[in-house]
Amino acid sequence: MLFSTDAFSNDNNEVSNLTKSQSYDRSEPEAVQKKEKFKLVTEELLAPLPLGAKCAPRPDRVPERKYSFETPPDPIPANKIKNTYTAEIIVVGGGISGMGAALTAAEQGAKVILIEKMDTFQARGGCNAYIGSRLQKKLGIKIDKDEILLALQKYGGDRTDQRIYRMWADHGHETIDWLMDMTDAAGIEVKINQYPASAKYDFSQEYYPSYTNVDHMYDQRVMVGCIMKNAINKGVVMHFNMRAKLLLRQDRGRVTGVLAQNNAGEYNRYNATKAVLLCTGDYASNAEMMAKYCPQTDYLPGKLVTSTGDGHQMAMWIGAQMQGTPPAPMTHGFPGPLGSDAFLQVNLKGERFHNEDVGPQNYTNAVENQPGQQAWQVFDSKYPDELKCMGLGFSRVIEDTPELRGYVEDVCVKANTIDELTRKMEVPLDVFRATVKRYNDMARAGKDLDFGKRPDRLSTVDKPPFYASKGSYEMLVVLGGLNVNMKLQALDKDGDNIPGLYVAGNVVGNRFSVDYPLLLPGFSHALALFTGRTAARNAADTEENNSQ
Ligand SMILES: Cc1cc2nc3c(=O)[nH]c(=O)nc-3n(C[C@H](O)[C@H](O)[C@H](O)COP(=O)(O)OP(=O)(O)OC[C@H]3O[C@@H](n4cnc5c(N)ncnc54)[C@H](O)[C@@H]3O)c2cc1C
Repeated sequence: MLFSTDAFSNDNNEVSNLTKSQSYDRSEPEAVQKKEKFKLVTEELLAPLPLGAKCAPRPDRVPERKYSFETPPDPIPANKIKNTYTAEIIVVGGGISGMGAALTAAEQGAKVILIEKMDTFQARGGCNAYIGSRLQKKLGIKIDKDEILLALQKYGGDRTDQRIYRMWADHGHETIDWLMDMTDAAGIEVKINQYPASAKYDFSQEYYPSYTNVDHMYDQRVMVGCIMKNAINKGVVMHFNMRAKLLLRQDRGRVTGVLAQNNAGEYNRYNATKAVLLCTGDYASNAEMMAKYCPQTDYLPGKLVTSTGDGHQMAMWIGAQMQGTPPAPMTHGFPGPLGSDAFLQVNLKGERFHNEDVGPQNYTNAVENQPGQQAWQVFDSKYPDELKCMGLGFSRVIEDTPELRGYVEDVCVKANTIDELTRKMEVPLDVFRATVKRYNDMARAGKDLDFGKRPDRLSTVDKPPFYASKGSYEMLVVLGGLNVNMKLQALDKDGDNIPGLYVAGNVVGNRFSVDYPLLLPGFSHALALFTGRTAARNAADTEENNSQ
């Protein structure tokens, strides 16, 4: 019971909240009045519908626009098929999830063909988040899994599927150890990012903690290239410049293959006797899909030409369902040459607008709301000493190096007075002067009265020369996919699995929602490789996928 009846006895406001028809008879004895009032208020506040009832959709709901990608293309006539290939597993997409899936399925003894629409594999970046790896154990790194899982779940407002996180937390270390067997053998270096962390860095005191100890840093192209080489050695057949166009499925039966087209416009048929694995990445470069599923950032061009959402579309044409919650655009920003360190930021009007002590994703979120959607990072000549107070995490700059100093000189406007800097920044003089004065006053007083930034990251801007640089941000990928079960089979509208269809990487839904969490730098890569391997194992192993 959340309320006691006494809690209402002195609360006249609650009475006025009752509608006329609900108001109780004041001639009743006081105890009855209280009881009745309690019942009405609890009914109204705690159980707006009878328990178990489903809220009916609003009758005046605006019909959704139908986009062209929602209409399946015409079937491809048999006489247009040039070649037919057959394997147990057909992997579509040669990025990190697809290469990992292909090698894993081959290691399970399956015959595998991988088709990729570009002329080689695709990879970028370099962070990979795992818990409990051999490397972490060797370094004595101990991580509280539950703390991280709960933080992730909270970050996604409970819209994400915690069971996927749990699988990764419990078994992800097998994936990174498997990967390191290969990369160690190839002499490829991997290290834990920003390790050892400064003793002063305390996750629990951070506004947005960054669990840096999880991040295994690679050159991702070298790493995915290494997986590909091992996959070829294991017998995986790869067809490049081959774009999957349609999945083959009769009615509600098993998915039996894929039709794909090469650069010359010719079609191949790929029969899958066990399963098809869709590892086709995201849809950030598909304007229509962005307009439908991610309208809040549909104005930004996608960075990857390959991110056209082919896998999502092909699966939806045969009954798969897009996740019901908003996807998370990965629109990391770079506030300035000092990365996402918490130096002063002002918008184009010269005003401070947020607590700067946030990661690159939250920076973008805040700047998107500013006039001109741009901001300046501002600091003074003390910056080399101030870096060490700025904490750790993705895109935090912690080391003063000659390269950093050169970069700062190259990209910043620089001045010996605030007025001169203001002119170079072309922001309103009075406003910027006032902003810097107030910021300096608060820094000296050790209290950010405007945005609550922690005192050790409030640094005065008072020692010339002064520097300022505009930041930037871009659409890297959009993280939203199809509903899946824990075997990573795509589900239809009834929540039943579509036989023979598995998905991995950015085709997997319900991993992220609304916002990409930089709590774990490299979580996207890790989930891509982990889901690739998991889907491949299930596809190759399970009884239901045995050749028929
Ligand atoms: C610049 C940049 C840096 C990044 N850095 C990081 C980082 O450090 N850490 C991190 O966790 N995340 C990072 N990300 C995000 C991360 O790279 C992706 O989320 C992740 O690689 C997705 O893996 P994937 O296998 O699902 O897709 P992808 O790696 O995109 O692979 C999909 C593949 O499928 C192919 N394909 C698509 N459609 C078809 C089709 N119809 N037929 C055949 N092939 C097809 C594509 O060509 C591509 O090769 C970064 C993203 C960008 C853009």
